[in-house]
Amino acid sequence: MEKHDHIGDNHILTNVETPLLPTAFDASDDEKIAVIKEHFAKIMEALGLDLSDDSLSGTPYRFAKMYVKELFYGLNPANKPKISTFENKYGYRKMLVEQNITIDSSCEHHFLPITGYAHVGYIPKDTVVGLSKINRLVDYYAHRPQVQERLCLQILKDLQEVLGTEDVIVIVNAKHLCVSSRGIKDKNSFTTTVEYGGSFNEVAVRNEFFKICDFDNRD
Ligand SMILES: [Zn+2]
Repeated sequence: MEKHDHIGDNHILTNVETPLLPTAFDASDDEKIAVIKEHFAKIMEALGLDLSDDSLSGTPYRFAKMYVKELFYGLNPANKPKISTFENKYGYRKMLVEQNITIDSSCEHHFLPITGYAHVGYIPKDTVVGLSKINRLVDYYAHRPQVQERLCLQILKDLQEVLGTEDVIVIVNAKHLCVSSRGIKDKNSFTTTVEYGGSFNEVAVRNEFFKICDFDNRD
C-alpha cells in the first residue's frame, strides 16, 4: 500500500512495455464494456450517487464505452495504425521534423488526463513514412494508461523500427492533471521528456532539432 502510494506520487517508470495480462484481449470490446459498466455503477453507488436519476442512469455505460473505445483504444494492438512506408526516392537525407502533435493521454497512476504535444524528428535512410502516420502512431500510444517517459520511449522505438534507422528523436511536453488538480495543485508546471538515438546522440544534431522546434520562442 505504502509502496503503491510512493510509486504513484513520484510517477516512477517500472517497465518500457505497457504491463498487460496474457488474457488482455480474450474478451471482446462489448464484453469489456459490460464488465466495466457494472463495476463503475458500483463505484458511483459507493460514492452515494442515486443511479435511478435520469442524468446519472446512463453514466456507467458511457464511462465504460469511453474507456474501451476512446481513451484506451491504444491498448489493443489490433487498433494500431497501419504504417505504410515508401522508398526514399528523393534521396532526402536531412532532418525531417513533425512538431506540435497533440498528446491526449492518461496517467496510469491516477487515470487523469495528460495533455500536451509531441515533437518528432528523424533523418531518413532508405525509408520514409506519410507525415500523418507519425501523428497516428503518437495518438495510438497516447491512448492507453501511460507514464510520460514510457510514452516517449514507445513512440521512439516504434518509429526507429518502422523507419529502419536509429536516427530518431522524440520530445513530449505535457501537463498532468494529477499534478495540477490534486496533490500539489500546481497549475503551471509541465513535464518534458526527451528520447533519441543514432545521430541525435551528437549535440550539434540535437541542437539543430531544438532550433527547428524553436522552443525558446514558445509561449
Ligand atoms: Zn498521475
